[in-house]
Amino acid sequence: MAVIGHFVDGKPLPGSSGRHGDVFDPATGRRTARVELASAADVAVAVEAAARAARLWRDASLARRTAVLFAFRELVHARRDRLAEVITAEHGKVLADAAGEVQRGLEIIEYACGIPSALRGGFSENVSAEVDSYTLRQPLGVVAVITPFNFPAMVPLWFLPIAVACGNAVVLKPSEKDPSPALLLAEWFTEAGLPDGVLNVVNGDVGAVDALLEHPGVKAVSFVGSTPVARYVHQRGTAAGKRVQALGGAKNHMVVLPDADLDLAADAAVNAGFGSAGERCMAISALVAVEPVADALVARIAELMGRLRTGDGRRGCDMGPLVTAAHAARVRSYVEAGVAAGAVPVVDGRDVEPDGDAAGFWLGPTLFDHVTPDMSIYTDEIFGPVLGVVRVGSYDEAVELVNANPYGNGTAIFTNDGGAARRYQHEVEVGMVGVNVPIPVPMAYYSFGGWKASLFGDLHAHGEDGVRFFTRGKVVTSRWRGPRRGGVDLGFPTQT
Ligand code: NAD
Repeated sequence: MAVIGHFVDGKPLPGSSGRHGDVFDPATGRRTARVELASAADVAVAVEAAARAARLWRDASLARRTAVLFAFRELVHARRDRLAEVITAEHGKVLADAAGEVQRGLEIIEYACGIPSALRGGFSENVSAEVDSYTLRQPLGVVAVITPFNFPAMVPLWFLPIAVACGNAVVLKPSEKDPSPALLLAEWFTEAGLPDGVLNVVNGDVGAVDALLEHPGVKAVSFVGSTPVARYVHQRGTAAGKRVQALGGAKNHMVVLPDADLDLAADAAVNAGFGSAGERCMAISALVAVEPVADALVARIAELMGRLRTGDGRRGCDMGPLVTAAHAARVRSYVEAGVAAGAVPVVDGRDVEPDGDAAGFWLGPTLFDHVTPDMSIYTDEIFGPVLGVVRVGSYDEAVELVNANPYGNGTAIFTNDGGAARRYQHEVEVGMVGVNVPIPVPMAYYSFGGWKASLFGDLHAHGEDGVRFFTRGKVVTSRWRGPRRGGVDLGFPTQT
């Protein structure tokens, strides 16, 4: 059985904890590897390597840093099919979806190639006599990046290229469920010329996370995962004096107004509800149908769902398995709870006949109608292929429902009324809004992040916020004197 270790100071590092996790191929149910679970001592070795590297890397010229980023971009681009295969083998999402994930990650690397523009400061000449003022943005030192299972390449890439381009060194702790894509990225970054120690990967679980949160050498933490863990990481990390951005879970609503193009809305609901088996933080899980659209919309969605093929992601199917047996059982229990609570299962994923190994972690796409806000299939983030339709009587009722939800990651409105769409984007308390776009994931040069229980901290991921998160601002006031002035003056400096 292969053992997946750590990657520290430019080379593989075996673990010292004696603890391991299991990595599965979700489409066959077979265990394919064991992964080291780092001890606090393993984490300390990685942080120390990163601290040594950070002292040198902060002085690397922008030209040198961007040369590495361009080379890394070329390597990932050339090997994108290989990366997608590794994602599918450990996560289970279908190959086309894994390729899409890699593409979105590449876009962040490309954004980071332009870091010299993003780091440009301001300069004011002669703010006082012979005095100039200007701003610098400087790296923080060692930063930790802790990522979830559902995008094992893209979410690390939201942070690594920008953190490194800004002159920091990184310790990445990927999800222990699918750790291999992160290790490949670290090896390829090193191959692209990144000095040893600037990017390290420690594998592990809660023990490794706690060690990173407590280590005084770690100056900032970027976390992505479920809301309870995000809240914990934010509280503990900030209490330890670190800068923390912690992106949490979601319950994304798609509102369909009566004037919407129903075919477009139905396509969007199916794509956004069941892509990646619903294991996306931007998946649509609550469809808010403003009457009288519900009957027609539900019928159209059910018809489209009948054409979806669930199976092994390497066989050209539309939807793959869930990530682990435990997660599949948990999602299945929500389907049972929905039936028990009185929601109407229009399509029941428990009946699926997958195109794949019987031991895979299967659950087919499931559609519930007549969901009410008190049911657990509405209140909880299920993170599986379960779409619930909530029927409401008006636009106002729809907005009230969305805004009452504790999460605020993404939302979409489907309508042909520009005024209604404009009003929605203004009124809705959600960080990312789509208008006739079901998964409004911002491009690399904008920032990704939700509101309320979907993000703890101030700054979102990548784009301008990413650069701000991974740097500290400094203002320099300098005087280069001409031959005439001088003299003692104890007054507070003002402009002259
Ligand atoms: P998770 O919270 O279980 O794990 C995330 C990370 O935290 C992993 O690295 C894991 O090892 C670690 N971890 C798990 N339990 C921990 C604990 N008790 N203490 C400390 N660390 C712990 O999340 P997941 O199941 O891997 O990923 C799915 C979740 O991530 C969903 O809730 C999804 O919405 C969310 N997510 C959010 C975004 C976003 O941008 N907001 C993006 C992707 C995923």
